[in-house]
This record gives sequence, C-alpha cells and structure tokens, in this order.
Amino acid sequence: MTTSEDFTAHLRQELQGIRDAGLYKAERIITTPQGAHVRTLAADGTSRDVLNLCANNYLGLSSHPQVVQAAHDALRTHGYGLSSVRFICGTQDLHKTLEARLSRFLGTEDTILYAAAFDANGGLFEPLLGEQDAIISDALNHASIIDGIRLCKAKRYRYEHNDMADLERCLEQAAADGARFKLVFTDGVFSMDGTVAQLDVMRAVCDRHGALLGVDECHASGFMGATGRGTHEHRGVFGKIDIITGTLGKALGGASGGFTSARREVVELLRQRSRPYLFSNTVAPSIVGASIAVLDLLEGSTALRDRLLQNTAYFRAAIAAAGFAIKPGEHPIVPIMVHDAQRAQQLAARLLELDVYVVGFFFPVVPKGQARIRVQISAVHERSDLERAVAAFAQAGRELGILA
Ligand SMILES: *Cc1c(COP(=O)(O)O)cnc(C)c1O
Repeated sequence: MTTSEDFTAHLRQELQGIRDAGLYKAERIITTPQGAHVRTLAADGTSRDVLNLCANNYLGLSSHPQVVQAAHDALRTHGYGLSSVRFICGTQDLHKTLEARLSRFLGTEDTILYAAAFDANGGLFEPLLGEQDAIISDALNHASIIDGIRLCKAKRYRYEHNDMADLERCLEQAAADGARFKLVFTDGVFSMDGTVAQLDVMRAVCDRHGALLGVDECHASGFMGATGRGTHEHRGVFGKIDIITGTLGKALGGASGGFTSARREVVELLRQRSRPYLFSNTVAPSIVGASIAVLDLLEGSTALRDRLLQNTAYFRAAIAAAGFAIKPGEHPIVPIMVHDAQRAQQLAARLLELDVYVVGFFFPVVPKGQARIRVQISAVHERSDLERAVAAFAQAGRELGILA
C-alpha cells in the first residue's frame, strides 16, 4: 500500500468508529430560504415541506424582506467582496457604521467585526492576557471559547456550570496563585439547556474579587432583555459587562459574521493583534449592509422580540400540558427531555414523518441519560404552526411510549 492508501484506510476506520458509536452527523438538504417552513430534499430525490423547529432564526430575520433588500442594496452600492483583510484595503464606510451601531446597541464603546463568532472568541484571549493573568471559564462554555482560551498563555480555571460558589473558589485560587488580571468568561445563554447566565450575580462576584467579566451573546443578542440588547439587559447589568462577543449568524440575520464589543482600548488592541482579524478576509458588504438594517429594525420596534417571547411562552406551556418534561426557563431554546438516546432519535425520525423538523441531542453533546429534542422557537412561527407541532409531538410520544 502507498502512504496515501494507508492514510485513507486509516480515515475510513475512524469514520466507521464514529458511525458505530452512533455519532455520525448527516446533513439534511434544504432547497428553500430559511424560515418557519422549509422544503427538504431526501437522498432518493423526494422533497418534503416541513415545519422547522431547529434553526437559530429566533427573530425570523434570515429571510426578512427588509433584510434581503438591504443586502441587495449593499451588493449594488459596495460590490460583492473586498478581496482584502481589514487593515490593507478591506474597510468600507459600511463596516465602520456597523461597528458603531453594534456598540450603541450593546452599550459599549467600540466593536470589531470578525468573519464569525468562532473567530471573535478564537482571537480574543491571546492578545489581551498573558502568563501573569487568569481566565476563569464556565465548564459548559462554547467550543470556540475553549479553543480561544487554549491559544492564550494565561492560567486557566474552570468552574462547575453556573455554580457561583465554585466561581468564587476559582477566583480565590487565581488570586492565591498571584494573578495580575482575572477574566471570568461565560456564555450568556447556554445552547443545550437554554440556561441564562446569572450575569447580575456574576458582576457582583467579579467586582468583589477585582475581576473582569466577559460574555458570549450568540444565543441572546437581538431578543433577550426588554429591548433585545441581550443577557446583560435581561439581568439588569446593561453597560456593565467588560467584553461582549456575539454572532451575526443567529438572531441578527443569520448569514455569518461575528464581533467583539468592549472598551475602546480592548478593541484597539484586538485590531492590532487578534490573528483571525489580521489574517482573514473582511466581512462581505452585503452582510454588513443587511446587519445595519437588522439593527434599524430592532431599534425601531420590539415587535419581533415580543412575538418571539409570546410564541415561546405558548409553546412551553402547551408542550408541558401535553405531558412532556421540559427544562424550565424562558428562552426560545426548549429542551424536551427524552433521556434515552435511541428514543430521542426515534422521536425525531417520527416527527419528520409528520412533517415536523427537529433534532435529537445525546451523549457526548449532553450528559449520558439526558438525551433530548431541542426545539427552537421563532418569531415567524404562527400559532397554528406551534399547535401542529405540539399535536405531532403528542402523537409521536404516545406511539413511542414516551407519553402514557
Ligand atoms: C453559534 C455560537 C458560536 C459561533 O458563532 P459563528 O458566528 O457561527 O461562528 C459561538 N459561541 C456560541 C455560544 C454560539 O452559540
């Protein structure tokens, strides 16, 4: 065998291992724009119109006419792409406008755009902190935060998920270890449970221990809080978070792009030293123009955010009344607990036959014995959509013996 054949044989074995463990992720093909209803295309060529309950399209902006129009407009006025990183010849007036608008929306001094939130988190820690410093991270933080922390020389501490006593223990340990600066970093909302970080408590704890507080707002920007600014607004600490990272790829339009928003000096240093910013292409003008239109919409009216909250409250109550166990909360992420991994997969498969598109999550994405269907509610779901979803869940749940 050649080296190349050897290598591909090795990869085939790895892939088989993933399949055998039941962890193989297949992609479902969609042939329509993102929305409450999408058309899926099966391998045999048949297509199916389904109710979509698994997108991060919280505000329904992925295909919103004003957002699409703004993308068209920017395409016409500012072209398709810049063929440059920001600091060579990749900064347009649009990019500066969006950065200023995001700062205003989030209550910070300045904002820096990235190609993705994954890059914002990946390029955040290493330029700001060194060996003398400490990063204290929630055990369930997003993969991009974990990777970003790995790239940084600061000392690492990890507290039990959402456990404020353990956070204090880490802060005390970091102080005992002689840390110069301490940065506590958390997801604003955790994607598997819809748990909302206790930013008010965390702010007080950080102040007591002289620590900075950073939050990843990917599942919160645009709809958490009375005017949708995010988890900090929701928890009453708007304007009091040191560093906010987030995505343009979820509620804020759903295309792609990320950002870090913070004090002027933080953002200025990131522009000088953050590697995913320095060595990766600028965000496309159509996305930037559309994102400005998204902020116009959200600052002009809370209608979409209000609709999302009403839909979420309705669905949470109705699915619980149907007999399903859900993780309590208020976030549009609604984890419907099935516990058994195989059952969760069977339930998702049966729901698809009933034209309801949901995804099952099981170990190692969530702890063993906590398999679930994660439903995500959107502002563009109609009441009739949600009623149909609950009826389909009830039918499939009875058929599979999940419900009595
Ligand atoms: C989705 C997500 C990201 C990644 O966002 P992209 O812009 O798609 O790279 C980062 N952090 C959290 C918490 C997320 O949910």
